[in-house]
Amino acid sequence: MTKMTKILLIYTGGTIGMVKDFKTGTLKTFNFDKLLKHIPEINHINCLIESISFEEPIDSSNMNISNWVLLAELIENNYNNFDGFVVLHGSDTMSYTASAISFMFENLTKPIIFTGSQLPIGDLRTDAKENLITSIQIASSKEQDKPVISEVCLYFEYKLYRANRTTKINAEHFEAFDSLNFPPLGESGVHLKFSKQLLLQPNIYNKRLKVRKKLDNNIVVLKIFPGITNEVVETIVSINSLKGVIIETYGAGNAPTEAWFVNLLKKTIERGVHVVNVTQCIGGSVILGHYETSEHLKKIGIINGKDITTESALAKLMYLLGEKIPKSEFKTIFETPLRGEMSED
Ligand code: ASP
Repeated sequence: MTKMTKILLIYTGGTIGMVKDFKTGTLKTFNFDKLLKHIPEINHINCLIESISFEEPIDSSNMNISNWVLLAELIENNYNNFDGFVVLHGSDTMSYTASAISFMFENLTKPIIFTGSQLPIGDLRTDAKENLITSIQIASSKEQDKPVISEVCLYFEYKLYRANRTTKINAEHFEAFDSLNFPPLGESGVHLKFSKQLLLQPNIYNKRLKVRKKLDNNIVVLKIFPGITNEVVETIVSINSLKGVIIETYGAGNAPTEAWFVNLLKKTIERGVHVVNVTQCIGGSVILGHYETSEHLKKIGIINGKDITTESALAKLMYLLGEKIPKSEFKTIFETPLRGEMSED
């Protein structure tokens, strides 16, 4: 007899789990044990669902490294007892958390699906029900008794994405996320369809799951803009504890060629700080040396972020710094796709 698929639903906070207090009009978190009362349809999904919640559910603007570790531990401690995990999370920083979790879980063989909603579950026009129900269905999808998905994904408004490729692109549309540099892994319509050729395959060597929890957040994201001053850049790169900088450059990775700017970056890299070049465009890739305005960055040894998102670059940088990767290997490892977060050359 085949066993019933078991899914663990983890509520971290965010709009999805809120109900409106109709007297005051404010949104407040509701007791997640009452989930079934709001979505009785869940009873009809052919799997066993258990749920746990952060002791104090948070708006995702308050997410931090300790919360990422807490979430990772909830999944790790329940890993052997469940077939899949659905994480309910505020949409504001969902791409950051989901990217971080993707790096933290090495040799993943089960689905971890992040979802949330733009309207609370208790709202008449809510998008929460569909997002939640379909996420559970995705997490419990199996083929020949093996999970269809064995990676960290984000499901929102009928589309399933590789989580570390996503960005929140809209503060009010139901279609709040996009993955500009990688096609959706699946789509929900009348049928739930997966693009199987795009899915990460679990390792065939049965390597043990490793959960990496040492993230180092001594980093900064620096978005350049026309008129940025020497003083600002110098102040930022001289922070004593700084170990990594993500520079959001223009277009295909271009930046000012002025001597003060190049020299500051050069000195920063020589000091042992890892500097990563990502584009501030939401789609497309850094191509170092494509224009003269990125050739100088290549020469000073900047790390090529290629088509990674800023959210994912940030998570990868924290992860690799936490793993204490030696300086001599850091650039090569960063420029190598580890969890499908950037395209192969
Ligand atoms: N501010 C909320 C959060 O990110 C928005 C949402 O849940 O979508 O927690």
